[in-house]
Amino acid sequence: MMGHSHALSGVVGWMAVVPFVQGSEFLGLSFELGPGEIVAGSLVCAGAALLPDLDHKSATVTKTYGKVTETLGGILNWAFGGHRMGTHSFFFAALMGTIVTLLALWSELAVQIFVFLLIGIALQGLGFGLDKNRAASGVINALGTAAITLGLYAAGLNYTWLGVAVAFGVILHFFGDMITKMGVPIFWPFWKKRIGQNQGFVTNGPVEQKVVTPLLTVGVIVGSIYLFDWPTLLPDH
Ligand SMILES: [Zn+2]
Repeated sequence: MMGHSHALSGVVGWMAVVPFVQGSEFLGLSFELGPGEIVAGSLVCAGAALLPDLDHKSATVTKTYGKVTETLGGILNWAFGGHRMGTHSFFFAALMGTIVTLLALWSELAVQIFVFLLIGIALQGLGFGLDKNRAASGVINALGTAAITLGLYAAGLNYTWLGVAVAFGVILHFFGDMITKMGVPIFWPFWKKRIGQNQGFVTNGPVEQKVVTPLLTVGVIVGSIYLFDWPTLLPDH
């Protein structure tokens, strides 16, 4: 799927699980998800749903912050055996989830930096960017992302669930690739077979453009109406 479809799948995916995990404890992490956590989780999950493709140097997301994201992508490509290899495996999802969870326990600042990075990637993937002017695009994205990240921070968000949202977003990416003709080696490094190769619809073909992307968009709208208690959130006058 295209970047924007992956990003949308992250938003819809997070919104879809919120009612099920709301108020529960999972692996010692608490899921007290208020409106702020729902918004943050959706954006983080959207960013995480694009993370696996950072291993490709010409992917839109890799260019989000110029050299910064390109270098990060280069490291991922090198460490995980090339494009659509290790970054497209449950091993990578579990590794990212664990690293982020530990990061969240260790440093509040590290969490904020990571959230900033993921939201920036998410916005880029969702289409907030100027294809023709990378430098301006990076600056505008960084300012918008910083505003969102700071706003969420000021709202006193509890990010204990962050690692789970990241792992979940990464896994959603695999499904996105597998329902198109791209195979994904989900059991890498143990079994390198690309599952789902040559099955499904064409990336950015009519099915994706006319069915998948519109359905995901409707999903975001339905989720936004259903999950938030709008009368209490909106001002009286
Ligand atoms: Zn991919």
